[in-house]
Amino acid sequence: MKKILFVAHCLLNTASKVAREPKDGAKQEEELRIAFLKKALDRGVQLIQLPCPEFTLYGACRWGHVYEQFDSAFFRSHSRRILAPIILELQEYLSHSEKFEVLGIIGIDGSPSCGVSYTCRGEWGGELGGRSDLQGIISTVRLVESAGVFIEVLQQLLVEAEIDLPLIGLFAPERERVLSILDFP
Ligand code: SF4
Repeated sequence: MKKILFVAHCLLNTASKVAREPKDGAKQEEELRIAFLKKALDRGVQLIQLPCPEFTLYGACRWGHVYEQFDSAFFRSHSRRILAPIILELQEYLSHSEKFEVLGIIGIDGSPSCGVSYTCRGEWGGELGGRSDLQGIISTVRLVESAGVFIEVLQQLLVEAEIDLPLIGLFAPERERVLSILDFP
């Protein structure tokens, strides 16, 4: 029986991520990403890559965003469109339960798009140049216990398709939570 996991795009391709300065948190996240991939490969799990909603809408030179900036009908429509073939792919694997077991879906906690248990929120928006309050606006960003916009759309599509699967976010402070999805007999 083949075990299958659907994973956020940047779990396999970090080139899709927003460019940023290396920080301690990013190092821990990268260590967990590699540990997760090694364990998945060691256990023979097949990985299916979800599309990256941000790269496919805003490209490689985008700024970092917060949930509020993606919480629009346009971003949700884009997410729904690129997730439609993924739902079909899921349905096909699930309809052959004698051959395949879909273990679940892995997101990226902290992302405004792909967060599952945590996303980042803040009062961001508007012109950047010539503002005296820019630092204050940037500092409104905070980690919140809720899903990102892309994952919210995915959850809606899963409900519509009557698919019930574990959905877990990669999150360095809760390392064992995501690794445990690979602890099957
Ligand atoms: S939008 Fe999702 S897949 Fe794309 S870089 Fe961000 S967390 Fe990764």
